[in-house]
This record gives sequence, structure tokens and C-alpha cells, in this order.
Amino acid sequence: MDNKFPGKDISIEDLKSKFPLVAKKNINHKSKFKIAGVEFGGRTIPIFAGPNMVESKKLILKVANNLKKNKCHFLRGGAFKPLTFPYRSKKYNETREKGISWLKEAKKKYKIPIITEVMEEKFLPLVSKVTDIIQIGSRNMQNYPFLIACAKTKKPIMLKRHYGSSLRDWLGAAEYILKNGNDKVLLCERGVVAPHTHRITSRFLIDLQVVPAAKEITHLPIIVDPSHATFWRPWVKSMALASIASGADGIMIEVHPDPKNAYVDPLQPINFKELSLLMTQMDKVAKASWNRKVL
Ligand code: PEP
Ligand code: MN
Repeated sequence: MDNKFPGKDISIEDLKSKFPLVAKKNINHKSKFKIAGVEFGGRTIPIFAGPNMVESKKLILKVANNLKKNKCHFLRGGAFKPLTFPYRSKKYNETREKGISWLKEAKKKYKIPIITEVMEEKFLPLVSKVTDIIQIGSRNMQNYPFLIACAKTKKPIMLKRHYGSSLRDWLGAAEYILKNGNDKVLLCERGVVAPHTHRITSRFLIDLQVVPAAKEITHLPIIVDPSHATFWRPWVKSMALASIASGADGIMIEVHPDPKNAYVDPLQPINFKELSLLMTQMDKVAKASWNRKVL
């Protein structure tokens, strides 16, 4: 095979030398590790599901209960949220630290591990006590001092790709985490800024080509978030299935019992019934395409 990426004049080997810890050492090199007893990079494709925002204790307990029934592997939910516009502050100010305590309660009651975002270094000690995975949101992908602080917690980390970032810069950011002694790193594609050809219909465009591209040069597991990538519920199912077919090692999906009334991004979550069907469908695609499984 040609050692250059299509249309690029840098060889894959030269590119990989910029991030030696993130780069594959040979063609079969693939990270496999467990987080809270769930294996990543193995046969099972773990599913992270839950609301965008930890809106209330009642909501998060209800979702956790349902996720368990649907055999989802992790509960997702933002307590510290990056909000594009600063005016929805009332509910936001009510969650934050309280949201973390609700996640803790859900984790204990339903025995489901947690992934949640941290945006500021000062909250790392609090959140690290509860979460199983620290989510670094797309907006912080290149906040290098913050990446180093997260790495030093020794907690597993999911690094979301910034919606304007190249694969090169994304892997460069991941290298900061590995270089600082933390190698339980998941990478998450969550949609890139839609080019003008798509702007009328989409805020973002899911970049599924980045899954095989990333897997050619890094051993780290690649997660896909079709909810943020499409920003539009009717497209989530097909893009979740396509994400599995593209080779994703995990899926993050927004789920809400009453999607239309979700406090943040109400256009993107699916409901419990849709989740239940999707779990079965993702399992079928995983088996058919890669001899892997979801359930
Ligand atoms: C999220 O997952 O809640 C989130 C804010 O995602 P992103 O950083 O990809 O926008
Ligand atoms: Mn969001």
C-alpha cells in the first residue's frame, strides 16, 4: 500500500513520528483495555447513552434504570456543560455539583458506570471521585494544560474531536495525554463543521471516513457520537448503524424519556423505545460487518 495519505505529501511514517505514543507500532497494534469492567478494543462495542444534560435527579435515575434494561454499558450526562449561548443559566446553575451527586447516586443504585464532561481544572478532583471516564469536550480538545491536568488524574479519558480539527491535530492532542502517563484514552468523532454544500440542512457533518483513517495510524479505540454529529433525531439511527459499519469501537448516543422537552439540544435525543430497537440493530450490524457485538 502507498505510504502516503491520499492527496497529502507527508508519509504516514513521518506523520506518526509526531505522536509516537498514539501511533500504531505495527499494522495489528490495537489497544485493548478495561474501564469499570467493560472492555474497549475487544469484540464488544460499548454503548454510552443518556441525556445531554443531567437535568434532575429524577431524570437521571429514570434513564439509568432504562439503560440497564437495554444493556447499555455507560451512562452519559453533562453536569458541567459547554453551552453555545450563555442565557440558559437557571437550570444549568442548578445542576453542576448537584448533577455530579445525582450521577453518583444513579451509578450506585443501577450499577452502571459513568462518563461526564469536565471543563475546568478546578473541578477535576470532584468529578474524578464519581466518574469512570472523564470526557474532554470538543471545545477543549486543544487546551493543552487542561489535557495534562486530566491525564494526571489517572482516570480514563475520552477526547472528543474539535469540529474544526484535522485528524493530525486530534492525535497530537491525544499524545499530550499519553505523554503524561495516561494511556486509557478513547477518541470520539462528533461531527465536523458542515461545508457550504450541507449548511442548509446540517450544523455538523459526521465524518465517518475518519474512523478507518484514524485506525490506520493509531491503536486507540475510536468512538462515534452520531447525536452531536447529526444534531437531528431522524438521522441518528442510520448514522449510528453506519458508525458501527465504519469500524467504530464504541457509540455515544443521546437518550431522553421526553426528547422534545430535553433542556439542551432537544432535536437530537432518541427515546427509550427507539434506543431499545437501535441496540438490537447495532448488534446485527456489528455481527454482520466485523464479527463484533453490542449486546
Ligand atoms: C456532549 O457530549 O455533551 C458535548 C457537549 O459534546 P461536544 O463536546 O462534542 O459538543
Ligand atoms: Mn451537546
